[in-house]
Amino acid sequence: MRFQVPFLAAFTFDSAVAAVCKPIPIDSSALLAKLSSGAYILNSTSSEFAEAAARWSSLDAPSPNLIVVPATEEDVVQTVLFANKQNVPFLATNGAHGSVISLGGLQGGIEIYLTQLSSIDIAADGTTVTVAGGVHSKNLTDALWAANKQTVTGTCECVSYLGPGLGGGHGWLQGHHGLVSDQFISLNIVLASGELVTVSEDSNPDLFWSLRGAGHNFGIVTSVTSKIYDVEYPNYAIQTVTFTGDAVEDVYSLANELWLPDGVSTQPATFNQWSYWFYEPDLDATGPVLQFYLIEEGVDAVNATVVDAFNALSPLSSVPSTGTYLDLAAWTGIDINAGPCQKTGNAYPRFPIYLTQYDPAAVRNAYELFKEMTTASGSLFTGSLFLFEGYAQAGVKAPGDDATAFAYRSDNILGAPMVAYTPDGTAALDATALNWGTQMRDALWAGANGTEGTVGDFSSLHSYVNYAYGDETQDSWYGDASWRQTKLKSLKSQYDPTGVFSFYAPIKV
Ligand SMILES: Cc1cc2nc3c(=O)[nH]c(=O)nc-3n(C[C@H](O)[C@H](O)[C@H](O)COP(=O)(O)OP(=O)(O)OC[C@H]3O[C@@H](n4cnc5c(N)ncnc54)[C@H](O)[C@@H]3O)c2cc1C
Repeated sequence: MRFQVPFLAAFTFDSAVAAVCKPIPIDSSALLAKLSSGAYILNSTSSEFAEAAARWSSLDAPSPNLIVVPATEEDVVQTVLFANKQNVPFLATNGAHGSVISLGGLQGGIEIYLTQLSSIDIAADGTTVTVAGGVHSKNLTDALWAANKQTVTGTCECVSYLGPGLGGGHGWLQGHHGLVSDQFISLNIVLASGELVTVSEDSNPDLFWSLRGAGHNFGIVTSVTSKIYDVEYPNYAIQTVTFTGDAVEDVYSLANELWLPDGVSTQPATFNQWSYWFYEPDLDATGPVLQFYLIEEGVDAVNATVVDAFNALSPLSSVPSTGTYLDLAAWTGIDINAGPCQKTGNAYPRFPIYLTQYDPAAVRNAYELFKEMTTASGSLFTGSLFLFEGYAQAGVKAPGDDATAFAYRSDNILGAPMVAYTPDGTAALDATALNWGTQMRDALWAGANGTEGTVGDFSSLHSYVNYAYGDETQDSWYGDASWRQTKLKSLKSQYDPTGVFSFYAPIKV
């Protein structure tokens, strides 16, 4: 199991909430009177409050003083109207895996916890599913699988369906069908005004465009209808190949050769490649190992030519496994029982950057920084993780670069150094983590921006909004093409003129 933080102690979330929460007077009984009988409200004295407010990453987490748990979409409408009238800030929460530091702007106010909006309805003709606003990836995947159907969802089982989708949404099936948000047909959304509307290509093409990449800025989605597909390839194979750090250049040069010649993705839709770096002294006491996942669908063993090429680079181990689509999350350490699905109170800032190909020299520079950060004597960051996601790309590129507010369809690789630590209550530790993360990302960016022959313009940082640290620019989150920024700003002014939906990578007009 990877993607965990083995060396960090947990601290209690309630103490953190109590320490930072600034009470805003809210008449909760007046609000409760407007809600359906299934809705409820938690205040900080409720026993379930701490659990409902807990988050995957504690760095700059939102800190409400009231949590509303709606049972119907009308409850969401009433809560937004109430909050607006009382001039109280509010934020929808779902899988609680959002970590952009702007979320910490909610200090006091109302969280609208969507967990009870959990219905999943497959249409009789088997081509679409209507998913309520609080459904998580695993629930949707399992419900569809039981009907011999599937769609693109985020890969981590406890992340919500809509959290990733509103920012684009990467998943195992994107090589076939595109991003999570490329599956959206229509969305029911409560706007800043409190109005509940249905948005689709026909009813409102501009807002529909913006909800697929910059969606957190425009409202609370109470349900979405998405495309689904017959399960074509139930069986999957994985080869997990683990190397010591001296293989960095060879491994990523091979990956370029196999799937990214000249920065153009030739990766088959049936193939995904991921790699993690982590420090596990039992595997290599001298530095982090590099673990490469070769994942292929529709086969019982990964393509032998690919496996042989990796095995020729003298790995520490190379282990095959077979199973089905449902095994992918456990294989990659992001299933419901794995570390990333636990809320420990630790901080996990990430520093994402999209790339068209691996620059082996830049990857080496990033590796040396990661090694120093994780292995230095007394390091508080030993449990950190460096992630490269190399999903198949054909389905993402098919709609064309400008199709939606997701700006990075031309890129192929998502690099995401993650700095993991237990907060000690000092700003100095957070600043040190930020410094390490920034240096590692900058190393990759320097490679992309400075290398002769790099495909694409990397003069501005290409950053995935759903992984963002929060200090990136608006251009980085949503693309630096002026038409994109103009369009988003104009839509933000129109639909959220006072910025009530501005806690997640806010669009500033
Ligand atoms: C372990 C891990 C694995 C991940 N895997 C993937 C992955 O495979 N693919 C991928 O693309 N991303 C992935 N992500 C990133 C993920 O997209 C973001 O972290 C996302 O913000 C998580 O959404 P959430 O609902 O779980 O979190 P939350 O913190 O609850 O929500 C995040 C933001 O989304 C908003 N939001 C959530 N639901 C709604 C809704 N119904 N209507 C309106 N706004 C809503 C919230 O208001 C908040 O601003 C992963 C993150 C982690 C930590």
